[in-house]
Amino acid sequence: MRVSGPRARNLAAAIVGAVPTARHATFADFRDAAGGVIDQGLMLFFPAPHSYTGEDVLELQGHGGPMVMQLLLRRCVELGARVAEPGEFTRRAFLNDRIDLAQAESVADLIDAASAEAARSAARSLVGEFSTRIHRLVDDLVELRVHVEACIDFPEEEIDPADRKWQHERIDALRTRLAALLAQAEQGAVLREGLTVVLVGRPNVGKSSLLNRLAGDEVAIVTPIAGTTRDYVRATVSLEGVPVHLVDTAGLREGRDEVERIGIERTWQAIGRAGAALFIEDAQGASPEDRALRERLPRGLPIARVVNKIDLTSEPAGRSDGEEVLLRVSARTGAGIPELRAWLLQTAGWRPHGEGLFMARERHLVALRAAAGHLEGAVGQTQAFELQAEELRLAQRGLGSITGEVSADDLLGEIFSRFCIGK
Ligand code: GDP
Repeated sequence: MRVSGPRARNLAAAIVGAVPTARHATFADFRDAAGGVIDQGLMLFFPAPHSYTGEDVLELQGHGGPMVMQLLLRRCVELGARVAEPGEFTRRAFLNDRIDLAQAESVADLIDAASAEAARSAARSLVGEFSTRIHRLVDDLVELRVHVEACIDFPEEEIDPADRKWQHERIDALRTRLAALLAQAEQGAVLREGLTVVLVGRPNVGKSSLLNRLAGDEVAIVTPIAGTTRDYVRATVSLEGVPVHLVDTAGLREGRDEVERIGIERTWQAIGRAGAALFIEDAQGASPEDRALRERLPRGLPIARVVNKIDLTSEPAGRSDGEEVLLRVSARTGAGIPELRAWLLQTAGWRPHGEGLFMARERHLVALRAAAGHLEGAVGQTQAFELQAEELRLAQRGLGSITGEVSADDLLGEIFSRFCIGK
């Protein structure tokens, strides 16, 4: 149990009967109002500002169990605490300047990470690597703005050409660095979001076998993504750390009763958000039903035709690109599977990379692209200092929104509501 706020110290005194020592593990009895022992365990106390939230924080580590937890919680509430909202501890950490907004978001991303790679890139953002890169860009942008704004009051002919040259070079350098950061962030976003793939195919064409093949040595995991229903997802396989969520359309064939109809509705919603579709068939060819389904898939959805069980025919394995992408595979022997994996990763937007990705969110990408757009705009304004200064100001604003230097309350509400309680 974790309690944060100025009264945490008194609360500790009331529950264990002693004022806690800072940052020491103290073995103690946790007592109710009548002095009865609720549980026994460790008490930790972190005085402000050296705590997760930046406030006084008390941690009581008991044996757990729902009833004991309830009793201890009730005791804390009696003593004036209230139950935390989702993400409230991290929100307070942000508001008290312990971490910036990008770091706060990475806490949730770290918890939700569906692969080791995703966890590593979230951790990188958490320790501040992403924020540091943003801050460096902002610092250099500020220096440039000071320079450009200083020119506003002077007629063009009085400005040293060397100064102008420096400004142009600085803008160019910033554009290059921003582009590199955006590319890394985009890859991080692929790691975070992954790819949702619709699986179409009659029973027995080998969907399950393919799925197991795709998962390969990597663990196939089914992860519920916070706030979304995932019951239509048959499995999530991790390809080079990119989560690939496979949506099964088998259920679309049924749909007699109400429950099935809801399932069908959900599956269609998932299909609406999908990034690709696999039409799986065996040597006997696709069924007319599958063709009908194809007509109903969103326009522009990348589709690959997968011919499975080529070990039973003499067809060669691999990919051929004609009017459609055709992948000849065998789930049994593994032939053609590398090409299938490569197609999925390519469709997800994944490029082979070195280390150093950041777990970026859509919000970050939008802000980085906006900032890049304004830098671009600044390049176009070589004559008018005022306009150039304004573009640079907007670029800085865009970057600042990532780390939370400028942030609206509703944005914070949106971000922290997606956390779990107690984080
Ligand atoms: P699903 O109903 O589409 O999920 O199909 P399954 O994966 O359960 O496979 C149906 C049958 O086809 C099983 O007996 C599999 O062993 C077999 N099968 C799947 N893939 C292959 C393949 O590549 N080659 C051969 N020969 N059989 C396969």
